[in-house]
Amino acid sequence: FPLLSRIIQYSRTSPTSKAIIDTPLSLSITYSELVDDLLSLSSVVSPFIKEEEGRVVILCEKGYLVPLAMLAVWTSGGLAVPILPSLPLPEQAYMTTNAGTSLIICDHKNKGRAEELVQEVGKEGGECGILEIDLEGVRKNRASVSEDEKRGVLEGIEGRELGGERRAMMLFTSGTTGRPKGVVTRHSALAAQVSAVAEAWRWSESDHLLHVLPLNHLHGIVVALLPTLWSGATVELWEKFDGPAIWKRWINDEGKDPITMFFGVPTVYSRLIAAHSGLSPELQEKATKASSTLRLQVSGSAPLPESVKKTWEQPGGVGGGQALLERYGMTETGIIAGTGWEVEKRVKGHVGFPLKGVEIRLWDEEGNKQVTEREVSGEVQVRGPPITKEYWRLPEATSKEFLDGWFKTGDVGVYSSDPAAEGQLRILGRNSTDIIKSGGEKISAVEIERAILELEGMKDCAVVGVDDEEWGQVVSVCLVTSRPEVTVADLRRELRNVIAPYKLPKKLKIYEGEIPRNNMGKVNKKKLVLEAFPPEP
Ligand code: ATP
Ligand code: MG
Repeated sequence: FPLLSRIIQYSRTSPTSKAIIDTPLSLSITYSELVDDLLSLSSVVSPFIKEEEGRVVILCEKGYLVPLAMLAVWTSGGLAVPILPSLPLPEQAYMTTNAGTSLIICDHKNKGRAEELVQEVGKEGGECGILEIDLEGVRKNRASVSEDEKRGVLEGIEGRELGGERRAMMLFTSGTTGRPKGVVTRHSALAAQVSAVAEAWRWSESDHLLHVLPLNHLHGIVVALLPTLWSGATVELWEKFDGPAIWKRWINDEGKDPITMFFGVPTVYSRLIAAHSGLSPELQEKATKASSTLRLQVSGSAPLPESVKKTWEQPGGVGGGQALLERYGMTETGIIAGTGWEVEKRVKGHVGFPLKGVEIRLWDEEGNKQVTEREVSGEVQVRGPPITKEYWRLPEATSKEFLDGWFKTGDVGVYSSDPAAEGQLRILGRNSTDIIKSGGEKISAVEIERAILELEGMKDCAVVGVDDEEWGQVVSVCLVTSRPEVTVADLRRELRNVIAPYKLPKKLKIYEGEIPRNNMGKVNKKKLVLEAFPPEP
């Protein structure tokens, strides 16, 4: 994995360039400091990692210590398992024991939790150590690392990062459709994923990414953090999302380094729109103008509603005419597709073209053949160097997800017939929950959601299939609206001109505020159906 070599290279060619800004700690780390800290932490971590690919859980608050620990695990030959400190204990315990963790690297704040996790590992018959780290300690230790040791680490890096097939990282899926699965990415696949993103979005040393995503999933780590370091750019880590603060940071009245890139899940953009309306008129104007000067804004992890895209992009829109780039990917694959560089290709409802190294095919499972016609749906299947080879210790799940070397994403897509989006992929949703089977027809929940959100006063919605004796399943809607009243009949009447009659909703449940989502902005539809439309007793 040439990432480490690259970082070392940057520490020599541009030692004073900022690599990581830790906002909670008000710290700015240059590439040269990053390497010094890494050599120091490496010498501490190495003795704790007893075997190659030993699993090391990283349990630190969002900030500099997370990437630092991750890199130190790699220089020490370990397999990094970053886990979010805010997850409830049972979820963390599941991940930690499932990974067969032999070491937890934690910060002071999470020491108690780490101890609880060690007990959980013990219950399963495992043995796990704890290494508490803090930046002061890392800095103090710098002086005690001998030149020989440093040379040892630097030489060792070569073997490890280029030792392509070694396992580097385990990330858990978002758990949208069930229990999160541990996806193992090897150094070679990680390098393919990270370099493809860096290239597609033309990352350069002068980029400054504002990072508000959690550091335990693909989006925050592989799409945002690592390509920054790969490119010698700057990543500014914020502990959490704060709408008004983001607008102010873009406006940048304090004269900090300007933000050039920003990534979010769709709900981040809808919350930014809401936060914008809370600003004073003067600030609103400045904010919109500031947004228009960013080099790139990306949305991904879930479908971007057309209404959000429109409110952001239209002339006079909140985002100042920025065309959001939409990308589609998953933990198992990295980014599969993106609408790409040219602004006119960022067409609503589409996720674009394959990224470098990814081959896509649409597969008609019933017909057992590849689909090539426009607007005919099939399962999205992918192959190539970025794609994972395994779920951790789940050989059955692993073999179930592959077909002749192609990874089955479980998502259904079509190639678009829209002339503006020629050759682009459109995602109709997940086979398991978004493709509603009603009266012998297959209906895309995502398409209906898009149509509903286009109606007056619709703020958020999720369409689900509810089991039904007569129809098999019926199209049902969970809705947040600013209108005083909306009935199923209203929805059916208003949607009649935009979707086919058999797709019209039959059930409706009104929600206040927001539809429940996980921390990647995704709706767990299996859970939502039970909650919104429980089976009659
Ligand atoms: P789990 O696998 O545990 O159920 P998950 O699939 O949500 O959770 P991730 O790997 O984080 O876990 O997410 C990948 C999924 O997110 C894709 O399979 C796809 O369904 C969805 N997705 C990602 N980006 C987009 C997008 N731009 N449009 C539509 N769906 C998207
Ligand atoms: Mg998944």
